[in-house]
Amino acid sequence: MEGSCTYFDSNAWDQRLNKYVQRSWDLEHFLRESDAHVVEDSIVEIADEIDGVDADNVAQLPIGEVLEEVGADHGLSMEVIRETWKQQANLPEACPHDIHDSSERFCLCHTSPSKRQKLGINSVDMTEWIMSRLDSGEINGDAYSFVGARLRRFDLSSEIISTADNRPIDFRYIRVIEEVDCRDTVFKQTVQFKGAQFVSQRASASGREELQYGDHFIDFDADIDFTRTEFRQKVDFKFVLFNSDISFNNACFNAGMFNYGQFIGRTDFMAATFDGKADFSKARFERAANLNAKYNSAAIYNYTSFYGDVAIWTTTFRGKAEFWAATFHSNLNARYTEFCDEARFEEVRFEGQVIFDHASFHEDVYFRDVSSVEVISLRQAVLSSGMIRLPKSTPSFYDLRQAIVGNVNFCAQSDPDDELFEYFYLQETEFEGFDFSRYNDKLRPDWTVHTNTAPDTPFTLETDPAALETTYLKAKSGANEVGHNKAASEFFFHEMKFRKQQHARQALNDWSRITSDPASKFQSGFISGIKWVSNATLGYTAGYGERPRNVVFSSLTIILIFAILYALLDTGNIYSGGIGEEYLLLSFQSFITFILGGAPEGATFWFEFISAIQGFIGAFLIALLVFTLTRSIHR
Ligand SMILES: [Zn+2]
Repeated sequence: MEGSCTYFDSNAWDQRLNKYVQRSWDLEHFLRESDAHVVEDSIVEIADEIDGVDADNVAQLPIGEVLEEVGADHGLSMEVIRETWKQQANLPEACPHDIHDSSERFCLCHTSPSKRQKLGINSVDMTEWIMSRLDSGEINGDAYSFVGARLRRFDLSSEIISTADNRPIDFRYIRVIEEVDCRDTVFKQTVQFKGAQFVSQRASASGREELQYGDHFIDFDADIDFTRTEFRQKVDFKFVLFNSDISFNNACFNAGMFNYGQFIGRTDFMAATFDGKADFSKARFERAANLNAKYNSAAIYNYTSFYGDVAIWTTTFRGKAEFWAATFHSNLNARYTEFCDEARFEEVRFEGQVIFDHASFHEDVYFRDVSSVEVISLRQAVLSSGMIRLPKSTPSFYDLRQAIVGNVNFCAQSDPDDELFEYFYLQETEFEGFDFSRYNDKLRPDWTVHTNTAPDTPFTLETDPAALETTYLKAKSGANEVGHNKAASEFFFHEMKFRKQQHARQALNDWSRITSDPASKFQSGFISGIKWVSNATLGYTAGYGERPRNVVFSSLTIILIFAILYALLDTGNIYSGGIGEEYLLLSFQSFITFILGGAPEGATFWFEFISAIQGFIGAFLIALLVFTLTRSIHR
């Protein structure tokens, strides 16, 4: 039959668009396009009629839902909405294909699949027909338009799709009811799948719900298969509906736009490559999503909702990675993930496990106002710079054990009830360029960074002195590196304290097990005992060289003890006094004897002996005082 296909004037096309517009257009979008409405007023009016929804939320509701709630009031009718949508949708005016011989009105791709089946036209014939249209190059490229095509199977597997000119191939709003097979297909042209609907009538049950770390290259049987597909130019999947399990494994994209896409089944992008921007903003993943592709440019997941497990383990984000206001209703696994550019997890909501262990953030990373039910695990991760800001209510906890923390700003939107550092689990954490001076008032006066004792803390306070010694050793190195001497001094003090505890523990252990191997246990116990005593002595007398006032107190104590000794000996004192102050004076002089010189006349042997010992201790303590004083001035 002669003439052009009239599908775009048909009832079937209107029905198809109704369904699409109902789910993909929100109220605000419609009102802004509509001339008959004042946007803000209409939103408020409509919000008043729907219970339990405020104006902000009502604006974001799909127009179909609004219509169900308020009926045909407010000038809303499906016809008006659809026609308004059409005006801005940039649809082709008419179908470029000729009416098929068997039909009165439609071309081959717009004939209903059941009718084609009756005529004995199968999917191989359809593929051939599509390829012939792509090869024709006639009518200024309109031949590449298959907008709204109705297909049972969409099978372009192993085909190389190219055309004589550079016009995009237009598969917008097509509907595939059974299977999509684009394995090993190469699309050399820009290809548009915007608003396409890939519906599988098979039950979507093949994909496993939980993603196990280590499941790297398990190919699974997806109904919608773009495995190893190459999209050499931009591909547009905006507003697409994948109603079944989908595989993009090993696919190659230039830019891939999946904004507002709905992924109803399991989604796999394993080992896929995006050379251009990958945009999944406002997309919705209903089941497990394996998104560990190679992102060579920006990866955008703003306002994306994930209802199943999400895997981005061992993924490389070479461009910026944005997850603004994304919601993870299940687990996120980002082990060994590498973020080469800025990474933003701002206002994200995590409801399952969050694991970034061994991940590397080479540029700024922002965990701003993130809420998480579980601890956000960043164990052994590398955070070069950026910010972790706790939200106002219910701050989340960050596990930074053995991580490397650079110039990262820990802060809170408003001061948390507990101490800031309660929310960070620091253990054997390395600091490289971490600005300790920001936290002077948070860390004073104890300067402890292992503080996890808040009532509802998910952490257990570390008690192993060896681990704690390393924690403070690393904190000290970090503080030294940025020239924060006070912090370095305090961390050194803690480091020594925990070393002392280790010696004590070791000595006690050896002594208690001395029966098993007396000789060696005695030896090692004795050595540990000596180390413990000398460490403790240094700690008490000089605060490990960090506390001049300890030296002053020790000196006064020594003077007092020796005054009592002299009183007991009661010989050789050249002074006379009433309440014993003469012995105090004598002891004081003996203490600084290396300045004054010899002992008083008439001293006995024992007096001289004790005085000499005190002189020795005094010289030692004064030297120590000079040392700690000098050190503390430098701090
Ligand atoms: Zn047509």
